[in-house]
Amino acid sequence: MRTPIIAGNWKMNKTPAEAVAFVNAIKDNLAPYTAVERVVCPPYVALPGVADALKGTEIAVGAQDVHWEEDGAFTSQIAPAMLEGLVKYVIIGHSETRAYQGVSDEMVNKKVKAALAHGLHPIIACGESLEINEAGGTRSFVEKQIRAAFADIPASDLANIVVAYEPIWAIGTGKSASAELANEIIGSIRVILEDIYGADVANAMRIQYGGSVKPANMVEYMSQPHIDGALVGGASLKEDAFVDLVRLANEAKGLS
Ligand code: PEP
Repeated sequence: MRTPIIAGNWKMNKTPAEAVAFVNAIKDNLAPYTAVERVVCPPYVALPGVADALKGTEIAVGAQDVHWEEDGAFTSQIAPAMLEGLVKYVIIGHSETRAYQGVSDEMVNKKVKAALAHGLHPIIACGESLEINEAGGTRSFVEKQIRAAFADIPASDLANIVVAYEPIWAIGTGKSASAELANEIIGSIRVILEDIYGADVANAMRIQYGGSVKPANMVEYMSQPHIDGALVGGASLKEDAFVDLVRLANEAKGLS
C-alpha cells in the first residue's frame, strides 16, 4: 500500500520566525496521524529554523527548488549539497518556477538527477495550462513533462520520488480539478511510468494532486484510487486547515 503524502508548499510566505512559530504550533496536532507522511516546504531562509524545530518529530521538511550544479556563478540559486542533511524533499518543476524562472523540462530532469545524487527526494510537479486543458491536450502535455523528467532515471531511484499533478489553472485559483478528472490524469501518469519502468514500480509510485486543495474537498481526492495525497499551497499556510488536511487524509484512506 502506498503511504499518502501531504506536503505544504509555502511559496514566498512566512518569515523565518513566523515559520518556526507555525511548526511549533502544529507539530503536536500532526503527531497522531502517523499513517500519512507530513511535509512542510518553507522558503530557503526558514529551512534551518524549521528543521531544528521539527527535530525528533516525524514531520519532514522540503525545499521548494534546487539547482543542478554543484556550485559556481549562479546568483540566487541553491545547490543540492546545501540542502543535504537539512531537508528530505525538494519540489522540482513547480509551475511557478517553470513560468517565472524559465525552468524547462530538461532542467527539471537535471535537477531531479542532482537531487537524487545528494540523497534528496524530489517531488516532481507537472500540469497543464487552462489553454491546453480546454484544447484537450492535457494527457499529451503531461506525458511529455513526465517522460522528460524521468529521462535516464533508473528504476532503483523511483521509491525516492513523488510526482505531483498540478493543473496550472487550479493553482491558487480556488478552481480545483474534479476528483474524477484528477484521478484520470494521475492514472494516465501511472500508465506512462508503467511503460517506462514496469507495473510493480509504477504501482508503488506515489502521485499527489495539487490545485486549490482544502479541507472541504480533501476527502473527495483521497477517495480516488490513484491519488496518494496532495501538494497544497494556500491551505497549508493556515494552522487549522493544514492539520485538518492531514487528519482527513488519514480518515479517508481508512487509516487510524
Ligand atoms: C501549489 O502551489 O502547489 C498549490 C497547489 O497551490 P494551491 O493549493 O494554493 O492551489
